[in-house]
Amino acid sequence: MSWEEMYTCSATCPCGKGKITQTSYGDDWNRYKDGPVVIECEECAKKYKVEEVTHHGLLASDGSWSTYYLTPKDYPDYEGPKESDLYPATRNQYQDFPVWLIENYTEDELRGVLNQLKNTTSSAKLTGIAAGIREAHKKAKKTVRVGEIAKTVEAALEKYPEHVGNKIQREEIRKKESDARAAYVKEKRKHQTVIDLQR
Ligand SMILES: [Zn+2]
Repeated sequence: MSWEEMYTCSATCPCGKGKITQTSYGDDWNRYKDGPVVIECEECAKKYKVEEVTHHGLLASDGSWSTYYLTPKDYPDYEGPKESDLYPATRNQYQDFPVWLIENYTEDELRGVLNQLKNTTSSAKLTGIAAGIREAHKKAKKTVRVGEIAKTVEAALEKYPEHVGNKIQREEIRKKESDARAAYVKEKRKHQTVIDLQR
């Protein structure tokens, strides 16, 4: 069960007087893990922090790997638009089914679903979005009765106008946030250096 040190990679720190190191470990089960990247130079440790960015391969079998960046300690955090500043945390279908509907479907989509529900006696005949909502309803509410699903959708439509953070509102802020974060990271990279750890 114990991890054994395998090897330590290192790089020269920015001032040139010390080292940045990372030790890798292995165990009896042929599992491996990398320890933290440590700035061993006192001077540079005062000025920089290490940021780890994990990359994932396209396939699960490609695994993941990390790039480590030296970042000036006083570099500001992201302060741009955030969904979480504007709206409360999203609810899932188990916590609050009507709110989940509001946050994931437009008012028009839900009216379309209600229309399908009003015109059928069997939820097995529902198609498209309505079929998806039936499946979610089955899991969360343990029923696929048309009348029960219709009640839930009606509850969502009733709350829709005053609910803060519906699907379209959230999509808008998410787009803004992801654009702003991409710009923030692009700028930050100009102030960082990749730590080139060598065995
Ligand atoms: Zn140094």
